[in-house]
Amino acid sequence: MDFDKEYRVEPSDEVSLSKRDTKTKGPFVDKAEAVAVTEQNVKTIQELQYRLFVEEKQSLLIVLQAPDAAGKDGLIRKVLGRMNPQGCRTYPFKVPSTIERAHDFLWRIHQCTPARGKVAIFNRSHYEDVLVVRVEQLVPKSVWRNRYEIINDFERNLAANGTRILKFYLHISPEEQLERFHKRLENPSKHWKLNPGDYEAREKWDDYRRAYEDAFNKCSTEDAPWYIIPSDHKWYRDVAVSSIVARAMIDMDPAFPPIQVDLVEIRRLYERAKEKQ
Ligand code: ADP
Repeated sequence: MDFDKEYRVEPSDEVSLSKRDTKTKGPFVDKAEAVAVTEQNVKTIQELQYRLFVEEKQSLLIVLQAPDAAGKDGLIRKVLGRMNPQGCRTYPFKVPSTIERAHDFLWRIHQCTPARGKVAIFNRSHYEDVLVVRVEQLVPKSVWRNRYEIINDFERNLAANGTRILKFYLHISPEEQLERFHKRLENPSKHWKLNPGDYEAREKWDDYRRAYEDAFNKCSTEDAPWYIIPSDHKWYRDVAVSSIVARAMIDMDPAFPPIQVDLVEIRRLYERAKEKQ
């Protein structure tokens, strides 16, 4: 299945989230079949990350956005976080600190973008500044409405500098979210996650939906596409995202640098060291 084609938002699309499936199982007969594909994808991602790290020419930025309990943390823990931590970092973006708020909204983001050879995973991102900030009216409309264009310029700048950008929205239904909130309530080891604010955001589901749709429609570009991933089944979310990331990395085709040393000479040095041992 071509996950990239299926879930990529084309610049010409008019996304309506309510028309997008959250529950699909795609071509898979059962979870085990999908998990096997995910494992294969993770191997591909690990192998290509190694090359990316050594090549030091390109970088990869993965942006994750989602309603509460949609599974950003699980996706990072089970799939994306299995890249070598020497070359991959996750950055969670929370409510801005005083110093962050004293700067433009991209200031804290730009500091975390990946250097050449590196992968960065954004757990939330600059999109919060046109999502929660818009819905909660934290700044006036005259401020947030300009941000879509500013974001596109920012992402174009990153892409021109060799950064591949993949942006994922984990799409769950309100019913599935409530079910997950209930599971958290029933599981003491998840009680630390409980937050009354989650229920307040849930009340504003439609406002968030509209804000997300605007972000997809205005900011899904050739340089930095959005993908809307059906995420009611966690294993489907994992296989879809890992397939898209693996395919993008195959396309980036990072290569080992050409050999700078004389192999014959190194072999000779090795033989001599071995004789001396
Ligand atoms: P998460 O839900 O990602 O696991 P938290 O429960 O700590 O982590 O939530 C982080 C909170 O920070 C979210 O409610 C999110 O909307 C908020 N946040 C992130 N970026 C901004 C921003 N730029 N302005 C206001 N709130 C933000």
